[in-house]
Amino acid sequence: MGAVLVTGGAGYIGSHIVRRLLEEGRDVIVLDDLSEGHRAAVADGATLVEGDCGDERLLGEVLAGERVSWIVHMAASSLVGESIEDPAKYYDNNVAKGLALLDGARRAGVAGIVFSSSAAVYGDPADLPITEEQPAAPTNPYGETKIAFERALGWYRRAYGTRYASLRYFNAAGAHPSGGIGEDHARETHLIPRLLGALLRGGAPVPIFGEDYPTADGTCIRDYVHVVDLAEAHVLALAALESGRIDAGAFNLGNGEGFSVREVVDTVARVTGSQPPTTRAPRRPGDPAILVASSARAAKRLGYRPSIPRLEDIVATAWRWHREHPEGYGDRAR
Ligand code: UDP
Repeated sequence: MGAVLVTGGAGYIGSHIVRRLLEEGRDVIVLDDLSEGHRAAVADGATLVEGDCGDERLLGEVLAGERVSWIVHMAASSLVGESIEDPAKYYDNNVAKGLALLDGARRAGVAGIVFSSSAAVYGDPADLPITEEQPAAPTNPYGETKIAFERALGWYRRAYGTRYASLRYFNAAGAHPSGGIGEDHARETHLIPRLLGALLRGGAPVPIFGEDYPTADGTCIRDYVHVVDLAEAHVLALAALESGRIDAGAFNLGNGEGFSVREVVDTVARVTGSQPPTTRAPRRPGDPAILVASSARAAKRLGYRPSIPRLEDIVATAWRWHREHPEGYGDRAR
């Protein structure tokens, strides 16, 4: 059982994965340039290598020096809006650097990769809930770069035998129930932390991006999944790959139900006891109206089953993290 290299392991989702892998008794090496991640988010038992996953020399050293048998590839840029404004950043971070990692893994004889993909690969889905059979049709560069890397994984699997699981996350939310790690982005764009931040810090009301979508209340519907359930799915995917139960595939990771932006605002109000300040705003470019997953394939083939499915509970764990860490990890000027 060799070590697991987690790129982006100091980030929001990555730090939760690292914890679970350590609980499983794995040796974990985190490769993170700390551009979005936090040193303090990396659990004590893991080795942090500070650097870029596209740095071939560094990667060669890490893969040669340690017995890395698996990679969980999380390091990426992940904002839809930013990807439309700056596609170059997304093709570089998510495709060019990803390919450097993939090829380094091939040369080093790494058994396989668990890849952090996204619901953004589907674009505006034809049918709901979304199954993996639906064609990829991204509506933004972020989704394009995720499907590009997934396809590279498919061809590498075929030619070189590198196993993989592409985990297509829907909306990651919440924080570790221990209260020790959570979400802390330099520029927060996500709905739930923005609403909680507005309650804690005051400031400008949170914009509701579009109230003219074809949904019951006119706001976008998303499938919010607890971050510890996403983390668990990586452990399950690794186990399935390692045992040979699967050798390749894409898996949706959702929570079975969609909530509109308005419903999320109401849930935040109920959980916190305060009404977050909001304001009407135009649609955000690149946002599909509804994204709700069928996670039936992940349930059947990986044994995936969310342990914190209720939106109230998801918001409550996030609320605890933000209340107890109003400055996040406290490692940057706000
Ligand atoms: N959203 C919003 N106001 C905000 C941030 C997000 O109305 O300040 C909406 C956004 O348009 C989307 C949903 O909330 O419909 C979830 O957005 P988020 O950025 O959290 O995640 P994404 O779906 O982009 O991964």
